[in-house]
Amino acid sequence: MAEKEHLISGYETVIGIEVHVQLTTQSKIFCSCPNIVSHEQNSTICPICAGHPGVLPVLNQQVVQRAIMVGLATNCTITEDNFFARKHYFYPDLPKAYQITQSTEPICKNGYLEIPLEDGSFKKIRINRIHMEEDAGKNLHSTLTNESYVDLNRAGTPLLEIVTEPDISSPYEARMYLKMLRNIVMYLNVGTANMEEGAFRADTNISVRKPGAPLGTKCELKNINSFKFISDAIEYEVERQIALLENGQKIIQQTRLWDTKEHKTVPMRSKEEAADYRYFPDPDLPPLHIDAGWIAQVKNTLPELPNARYQRYLISGLSAYEADVLVNDKDIADYYDQVTQFTKSALAINWILRELMAFIKEEKTSLSECKLTPALLAELVTLIDNKTINNRAAQEVFEIVAKTGQSPQEVVKEKGLEQVGSSEELEKIIQEIISANPGNVAEYKAGKIKLWGFFVGQAMQKTKGKGDPQVINDLLKKYLS
Ligand SMILES: [Zn+2]
Repeated sequence: MAEKEHLISGYETVIGIEVHVQLTTQSKIFCSCPNIVSHEQNSTICPICAGHPGVLPVLNQQVVQRAIMVGLATNCTITEDNFFARKHYFYPDLPKAYQITQSTEPICKNGYLEIPLEDGSFKKIRINRIHMEEDAGKNLHSTLTNESYVDLNRAGTPLLEIVTEPDISSPYEARMYLKMLRNIVMYLNVGTANMEEGAFRADTNISVRKPGAPLGTKCELKNINSFKFISDAIEYEVERQIALLENGQKIIQQTRLWDTKEHKTVPMRSKEEAADYRYFPDPDLPPLHIDAGWIAQVKNTLPELPNARYQRYLISGLSAYEADVLVNDKDIADYYDQVTQFTKSALAINWILRELMAFIKEEKTSLSECKLTPALLAELVTLIDNKTINNRAAQEVFEIVAKTGQSPQEVVKEKGLEQVGSSEELEKIIQEIISANPGNVAEYKAGKIKLWGFFVGQAMQKTKGKGDPQVINDLLKKYLS
């Protein structure tokens, strides 16, 4: 173990990440086919996305709009004069034998994202470029007939490729960067960013070197569809590369996959020479000019972004943990913001993060289907705050309201859950308990403090669980000391 730590500390890790984001525009990038996931093969295609000869692609304005949004949200400069290029390779799911992409003039350049580190500081991860391109189709392999099929539904789906500089130096940073980028895509509502469905795909380039040495040979990790797997795979890959170098061996430049069962990376293909894609300008697409007015207009429509929201929550008094949970789930964060329109109670966040999230998980429902609206949750919290009900009763009210959408006040009245709160009323009850249990009182006073629970239990029983625990405690202290 000690040796392993020594190895890692002797080397630094250099990571760059390329992310492909599928955009949820109405139509595909160069034709009017619907941009939807269809399970009927080759049902959302036309001569353009199927790559027939003689057809002409027409650029979808919504794709450009969304690329500008992502560029501005990641602090990029937007390129005013854009060109499209053909990137050639031969693969059955690419019917034209080239992909339309951008090479020399990507739409966004020189941006950055600031990611939070474990010690609370922030690190800038530079973004080299973001460009627009089309997705390829999919090959389907049948194990039954041992035949392969091509489904072109995905061909022509608009993609943004977002490429960092090699600024990332640990699995943790890689994970934070990806989480933040994914949040931005979701906050901008430009894509689903669903990793399992391939709508947010990360390729990670990893190398190691002695501090100050030139960059080492890199390996690329492809097609990993969860944050956890990506950081596990990076961790494994770093150790593998260091072990090779320490044994005097060479690192072969290759693409590797993460084997989730064996918990290791395995080679997919070697890339000893850089592939020659023979890029050249696409003669079918005219240069695209984006004027400053359009950029300014998009800037005005940008919503509040995750980092800004995180800071706002911290300033409003939430803990870093609470702010983080909210920011990483936009639906919950939106819900919380709505609750705060009705109440400023500090209890609201607890009820959302504990009770509400647990309820949604248990009932396998979603926030939008849950009957407990932000207004109703605020009403419930107010009933606790003004001591109309205690926590135990609130639990019961919560369950009912979450299932029925009834008003918490109504439920309290119907079920008679109002807290027995007046001191006189409770004092009478406590006096009764004290006089009915002289033995226990004597024992408690003689030092058997465990009996405290007995008295509290008696009080709760006599108030049918509706006693104000604070008042009960105060009264018991008075009578038992
Ligand atoms: Zn089409």
